Amino acid sequence: MRAPPGLVDSHAHLDSEVYHGRLTDVLKSARAAGVTHILTVGTSLESALQAISISERHPEVAAAAGIHPNYIAEKGGDFNAVAALFDSAKLVAVGETGLDFYRDFTPRKAQHDAFRRHIELALSKDLPVIVHVREAYDEAIEVIDSFEKPPRGVFHCFSGDAAFAEEVLKRGFFISVAGQLSYRKADSLRAVAAGLPLGRLMVETDCPYLTPVPHRSKTNEPAYLALTAEVLAGCIGESLEDTARSTTANAWRLFGMGEEPPRGVVAYALRGNLYLNITNRCTNQCPWCVRYRSQWLAGYHLELEREPTCEEVIKAVEDAQPHESIVFCGYGEPTERLDIVKRAGAHFRKSGMRVRLDTNGLGSLSAGRDIVPELAGSVDAVSVSLNSASAKEYERICRPAEGAKAHAAAVDFVIKARDTIGDVKVTAVDLPGVDTEAIRSLARRLGVKFRLRAYSRYA
Ligand code: SF4
Repeated sequence: MRAPPGLVDSHAHLDSEVYHGRLTDVLKSARAAGVTHILTVGTSLESALQAISISERHPEVAAAAGIHPNYIAEKGGDFNAVAALFDSAKLVAVGETGLDFYRDFTPRKAQHDAFRRHIELALSKDLPVIVHVREAYDEAIEVIDSFEKPPRGVFHCFSGDAAFAEEVLKRGFFISVAGQLSYRKADSLRAVAAGLPLGRLMVETDCPYLTPVPHRSKTNEPAYLALTAEVLAGCIGESLEDTARSTTANAWRLFGMGEEPPRGVVAYALRGNLYLNITNRCTNQCPWCVRYRSQWLAGYHLELEREPTCEEVIKAVEDAQPHESIVFCGYGEPTERLDIVKRAGAHFRKSGMRVRLDTNGLGSLSAGRDIVPELAGSVDAVSVSLNSASAKEYERICRPAEGAKAHAAAVDFVIKARDTIGDVKVTAVDLPGVDTEAIRSLARRLGVKFRLRAYSRYA
């Protein structure tokens, strides 16, 4: 199997005795398999001390410290000593902590109290919390909700159902998946994973446990992480590269592990296209717009500190891996910078690239003139995000600054683009309560293609 670049193992137990005497080789194999960073998670005072020691000896390893819910009965008295480690050692998270009513090694009340104390510690240190939950889903959410200031963190080794995932995402947490996602009987877990947003996912081995297929008879180690990442990529319908980049960026966002991804990316490769982020401005306010939910999209930081010049846009494309197809899309409405679309688009076409404009179709309305003839030499195709078959509904869901005239202007743009540019598609997000069939038949009447885009509440 081809190893993707730059995976982060967001949860491992490198202090396990199974690695004694061979940790250097384990880390070497991990590097060779494309795992650049590993978070080793202490589960008791002794385990946390070892995790810290490993992280101090190996720069690619970061450490977290907590007392695992299964050990609270026996080792809960060490909590203050574990908490004191945060004053002297470099630790990136508190945990793992949580509730495990499956094993039930520890009285539930004691687990509950310890979970709370770990969250308090995380909040006091402004660190994320690593949550372990088994068969205590409602109870875990209740504990998190009982804090006035919500903690941030990750539900590791996720094995809950879709409803629980929704609760976790709603609270801003990340979800990390482990090797059991690859197991033959894990169809329901894979179905849950299929609905999870790339922007909130991480991958882990939880080694030495949960070895992924096809190595189940062996001890798990970080080198097997790509197997889980590949299964996850298949579940969510993304490439391994896009999954790896995004999960790695998410580990940086939550734990600060690895290299900080570049800020304000102008050209970003995704799903086989090279997208251009030339502005963050838009006159619409669609509630599903990624701008309102995250600065990140699929591992790219898209919030621009300043808008790029035409030369910078061209250079960003030249610096990226070669692509046959360029899309003006980004994190705002490209026609807000019509001049760049025209000049850079013409340049890319001259270089043999195919150029598509993803737009809300309101460029002519904003500019106060018909801009379609100006686009004709610069773009090969246009995709108009229409999202509604009527002016009233458009105003309600897209909240255009131009008000009631916006929908008619977008439809007029589609007609003019159809007649001048030719390759035109209308798209709609399958928002609950929106009649997407009516939009499909409007596209048919207009003589253009139609594409329904999946709605996700979470970026
Ligand atoms: S038209 Fe596009 S960029 Fe503008 S608010 Fe809607 S989704 Fe965001």
